[in-house]
Amino acid sequence: MSFEDLGLSAPILKAVAECGYTEPTPIQKQAIPSILMARDVVGLAQTGTGKTAGFTLPMIEILSGGRAKARMPRSLILSPTRELAAQIADNFDTYGKYSKLSKALLIGGSSMEDQIRILERGADVLIATPGRLLDLFERGNILLNDIKILVIDEADRMLDMGFIPDIEKIASLLPPLRQTLLFSATMAPEIKRLTAKFLSNPKEVAVAPPASTAVTVEQFLVHTSPRDKNNILAQIIEQENVQNAFIFCNRKRDVDALGKWLKSKGYHARVMHGDMVQSARTETLEQFKAGEITLLVCSDVAARGIDVQGLSHVFNYDIPFNPDDYVHRIGRTGRAGMKGRAWMLATKGEEKQLDAVQKRIKQEIAVVKIGASLATSKPDEDKKSPRFKSEGKALPATKKSKSPPRKESAELIQDQDDENVSGFGSDVPAFFR
Ligand code: AMP
Repeated sequence: MSFEDLGLSAPILKAVAECGYTEPTPIQKQAIPSILMARDVVGLAQTGTGKTAGFTLPMIEILSGGRAKARMPRSLILSPTRELAAQIADNFDTYGKYSKLSKALLIGGSSMEDQIRILERGADVLIATPGRLLDLFERGNILLNDIKILVIDEADRMLDMGFIPDIEKIASLLPPLRQTLLFSATMAPEIKRLTAKFLSNPKEVAVAPPASTAVTVEQFLVHTSPRDKNNILAQIIEQENVQNAFIFCNRKRDVDALGKWLKSKGYHARVMHGDMVQSARTETLEQFKAGEITLLVCSDVAARGIDVQGLSHVFNYDIPFNPDDYVHRIGRTGRAGMKGRAWMLATKGEEKQLDAVQKRIKQEIAVVKIGASLATSKPDEDKKSPRFKSEGKALPATKKSKSPPRKESAELIQDQDDENVSGFGSDVPAFFR
């Protein structure tokens, strides 16, 4: 099935072709025809499946037939995070480039006056986080009675972030006669309830079972102690061919501390979490996408749903409290059929979380043993003796980086005690050579 077969018109097909997409992804094949037939849709799909185009393309098609009046937008997309909202807005610009639709991105942390000005001119599509949308509505800057399509994206994340009451409030402000699309990576009971309340006879489309982790992501686990975590992480980064990576921490203060530590070791590392002002979050993400930053230390909130082309690695510096977050975190890599690698550091205190994660993904993650603790690190003297040992099954080889590690200085972290350490000899699996 091609994009032409889906019933999209020439301006959209042209924009899609310019993106280099040759055929629709499974979620697009399933969702687009139903959306074009004005049906409500529940999409069970993770990010990375092409779901954004799955709802954006038919929306552009449907909306192309009319124009919005001042302060009366015709469609609304709700997103849990500002970054995801901005990404959806980018998608609209890309796919709608020949369709002359207007859009407004309504997110916190950005100038409300600018957003109001755009609303005054009339926006066909609103892309909003729930809080900012309600603020603007309550101030009388938006009228919602002309909304014909509502999209609730990443509904499970809305749930985790406590946005469900806001979503319910917003949905109740919209005309009852509308089309509603809801996307979620998982179908928790609360999401099912939301679906039953706000969607009418929805077409259900699914591309991956709820607990699945992308098959293109290889997963590894390292047991360590809180004291050794940083050094173990640095060792893995040194030995893997890390092009660019997200490093997830559970707490904002750990995001800051680890970011600082990695920078002090010379890595191109930056941090991103919900306490940062929006302009700094946006700038950091832009730099990361442009390849100016190699390591982005982040919290789940900040990194949710973010699409970075060709992300090579994801590191779980902490095991997430919610096992669904593990699925989302590692789903940042291995996208669009590319290979990705996900590493997780586990301490004794995190055993419960580890159990929960392995139950969630219905598999045991391959354990890799990495050498003795490092009390201190010192600059590079001898790069020949990394301390890797693997345990369990042999792991596939990864290409050794041709370029030097992406550090801001030549400094490398090097072990000082060689106990329990093997060199790059034959006893080291190919995976680390
Ligand atoms: P999403 O799941 O919406 O975050 O999309 C993941 C990535 O897939 C994005 O970078 C899109 O640009 C890309 N993508 C979407 N649709 C297609 C397609 N039909 N063919 C190839 N890539 C696509």
